[in-house]
Amino acid sequence: MSFAELGLGEQLLRAVGDAGYTDPTPVQAQAIPYILMGRDILGCAQTGTGKTASFTLPMIEILSAGHAKARMPRSLILEPTRELAAQVAENFDTYGRHSALTKALLIGGESMTDQMRVLARGVDVLIATPGRLLDMFERGHLVMNDVRILVIDEADRMLDMGFIPDVERIVALLSRMRQTLLFSATMPPEIRRLADAFLMNPKEIIVSPPSTPAETVSQGLLVVDDASATEPRSIHRVKRAALRSLIEQECVENALIFCNRKRDVGTVQRSLARHGFDAAMLHGDMAQSARSEVLGRFKRGDVSLLVCSDVAARGLDIAGISHVFNFDVPTAAEDYIHRIGRTGRAGRVGRALTVAMPEDGPYVIAIENLIGKAIPRVDVPGIDSGELITTKRRRRKGAAAAKPAARKPERQPGSVPAAASDVRSDVVPADPQPEPVASTRTSQRRRGRGGRSTRGEEAPVVGMGDHVPAFLLREPKLIDKGS
Ligand code: AMP
Repeated sequence: MSFAELGLGEQLLRAVGDAGYTDPTPVQAQAIPYILMGRDILGCAQTGTGKTASFTLPMIEILSAGHAKARMPRSLILEPTRELAAQVAENFDTYGRHSALTKALLIGGESMTDQMRVLARGVDVLIATPGRLLDMFERGHLVMNDVRILVIDEADRMLDMGFIPDVERIVALLSRMRQTLLFSATMPPEIRRLADAFLMNPKEIIVSPPSTPAETVSQGLLVVDDASATEPRSIHRVKRAALRSLIEQECVENALIFCNRKRDVGTVQRSLARHGFDAAMLHGDMAQSARSEVLGRFKRGDVSLLVCSDVAARGLDIAGISHVFNFDVPTAAEDYIHRIGRTGRAGRVGRALTVAMPEDGPYVIAIENLIGKAIPRVDVPGIDSGELITTKRRRRKGAAAAKPAARKPERQPGSVPAAASDVRSDVVPADPQPEPVASTRTSQRRRGRGGRSTRGEEAPVVGMGDHVPAFLLREPKLIDKGS
């Protein structure tokens, strides 16, 4: 099927051609004709499938007829993170280049005054994170009655991040006379329930089940023997050494390095930088300007390793990432697929390597069950490999912290009023026992392109922002157990 057969107008066909696309992806081929017909959509599709164009292209087509009034957007796209919202806005620029539609990006960390000014001029497409959108609405800068198309993107991530109550509030503000498109990489029962509440007779579209990692990604698992490590700190050091060895033995062009916990992002980044690696970090508590700046540097190739948390890196569409490293085994098996899906995109080959401790056995098994195959074990010189513990065994004394803590959903930057202690807890002190610094020669080699080191370039961790999920603001209800 060609783009021309999907019912898109000439302007869009030109824009698609300019973008270099020859054929629609499966999600585009399935969704676009139904969206153009005005049907609601329930789409089960991951990022990387061309899902963004599957809703932006028909939206542009539909919205081309008509004009926006001041403060009354005609369509709304909700995204869980600022980065995803910014990425969708970029997509609009690409696909809408031959149309006269206007758009606005409402995300935290950016000037409200500028955003208010754009809204006042009238926008056809509003792309927003839930917190900033509600904030603008409550301040009276937005009227939502004119929204005719609503997109809820990455619904499962909204759920993980505790944004569903906000999404429900937003939907309640919209006219019932609207078309709703809901996309989610997975379909847990909570998302099904939302779909039942928000969508009318939706066309269901499922592309590549979420349990299928891209076939172009080769995977490996290094199980590290932690027998010599008797306390959490030394276990962390063993893991960092294992990560460095993995990076060194691979031909890494550029890589994302995932940590389960935000506070480990800083520790791992600093440790890599101290060892002469060219590493920056990205996590949800960084100021928006620092996040954009770091992403820009990574995309341009000015920095080759980006240590990140799941939320910050979720759905980022960065072309040509050669490697993904998991510093921690993700505790939710689906996260493994999302993480490794950052590489091997658009048919390119990629490599995904995971550092596991023996106690990560149950998490590894859950992942292997989900992807339907064993992850090949790898060894690296200088690191003793161990065995996964797959049965309930008495845990070593002091190993409690080695077990990855069940991932606390990372908040949108500043999603909770930042308690001072909260902010401080993310500013991780330098490692108590400094590891040896790499020789100048190896440092140079590791610094990669541009020979820059990221030492001393850490962005400020602010822990404050625009978003407070509604459920955190509600008064707790007292439950009378006797009733
Ligand atoms: P998404 O799933 O929306 O994050 O898109 C993933 C990547 O696929 C983006 O870089 C898009 O530019 C690209 N893409 C989207 N549609 C097509 C297409 N029909 N052909 C080739 N690449 C595409």
